[in-house]
Amino acid sequence: MIVDLHNHTPLCNHAEGTIDDYVKSAVKAGSKIFGFSDHAPMDYDPKYRMKFSDMKEYEKEVLQAKENYEKEITILLGYEVDYLPGHMDERVLKADVDYLIGSVHFLEGWGFDNPEFMGKWESQDIDEVWQKYFDTIEDMAKSKLFDIVGHLDLIKVFKFLPKGDIKKMAKAALEAIKKADMVIELNVAGYRKKVEEPYPSKELLEVAFSLDIPITFSSDAHTPEQVSMFNEQIVTLAREVGYTECAYFSKRKRIMREF
Ligand SMILES: [Zn+2]
Ligand SMILES: [Zn+2]
Repeated sequence: MIVDLHNHTPLCNHAEGTIDDYVKSAVKAGSKIFGFSDHAPMDYDPKYRMKFSDMKEYEKEVLQAKENYEKEITILLGYEVDYLPGHMDERVLKADVDYLIGSVHFLEGWGFDNPEFMGKWESQDIDEVWQKYFDTIEDMAKSKLFDIVGHLDLIKVFKFLPKGDIKKMAKAALEAIKKADMVIELNVAGYRKKVEEPYPSKELLEVAFSLDIPITFSSDAHTPEQVSMFNEQIVTLAREVGYTECAYFSKRKRIMREF
């Protein structure tokens, strides 16, 4: 991926490989701009994220890699932050980074995309869960805390699909994203999951394009091997829908480039 802004490190306790390994993998794949956005610390679900005391080390190591590889690739520093009212922390929200990805992984405290808590899906009204998810994405956009919307339709991860019209369910969220001047990512992690398609789906990407919402690209790599996987498919999808430019960020300022 020429621009690849969503990648993890072992600090989150569920990724493998060193920062160096990820960067080498990105250089090899021909990436020009590669961002780390590891799971930011939070006083909820601490098992799957770095600790607050890790932030300094994380930022230092990424900035060191930025220096080490500056001739080959531009490294950016970010965080993937959970939008979870009551649990967001100023230390993360005010961190001196290039960008923040806002992600919804929890609905009323339920980690709906975590295989550990998948059983809960069985007792839920799927259409209601989907609507609640997109309502939460809408709230996240309105909070104006983040630059990028993480995996816009993550709620489809286990392929519990609704009966209702997904475009209708996501409409207000997409309008709020546009109004907040946020970017959405084309995230290939979905290809590795049961749903076997990227986030977002083509139908939602078409709505985003019609609203003139900018995109960026993301491996969402949790191993160095996952860096730039499915690049061809995701670029083809973006072009089919009509996109020719993608976004990246420097110190929270958006920059566009062709892909
Ligand atoms: Zn993760
Ligand atoms: Zn995520």
